[in-house]
Amino acid sequence: MDDPAAKQQAELKKKHERTKRKLKIIGAIVAVAGLGLAIMGLADMVVSTSEGEMPTLFWGMIAGLPMLGIGGGICMMGFRKEITRYVKNEAVPIINETGQEITPAISAMASAVKNTEGNICPHCGNPNDDEAKFCRHCGAELLVVCPHCGEKVKDGKFCDKCGQPLHE
Ligand SMILES: [Zn+2]
Ligand SMILES: [Zn+2]
Repeated sequence: MDDPAAKQQAELKKKHERTKRKLKIIGAIVAVAGLGLAIMGLADMVVSTSEGEMPTLFWGMIAGLPMLGIGGGICMMGFRKEITRYVKNEAVPIINETGQEITPAISAMASAVKNTEGNICPHCGNPNDDEAKFCRHCGAELLVVCPHCGEKVKDGKFCDKCGQPLHE
């Protein structure tokens, strides 16, 4: 019961998540480096001034502050979606766009749960007791003939008699 469209969507989402994570990491690094430079420049200026000298690391503040801003901006880009979603969810509980975003994830999750559950009817997709030979929802036979060993086995990914895949 693999839905290629849902799978593709999940793949795309994963890719998007990776990009966002990268943005957050890069943004954090730039922001931290900028903060370090700014503090260094500021500290040097304070120390130098109190000792009556010209600050030599003043450039740290000049370079550090914009870096802090840029890094923060990149970070915000990474978090923007979460923020908008959060704001949306706070403002309006049910929004079409949010629903559409969540639906593929839910259906993928549901099918994953279904796949792990034993003895799924190949005809109607409903679960049955492990030892059932016929579906209690539609009456279809739950056993399939293994194409490798010819045994009648419970439908699933692999034959439980010979270990070969039942569907290729
Ligand atoms: Zn059935
Ligand atoms: Zn077999």
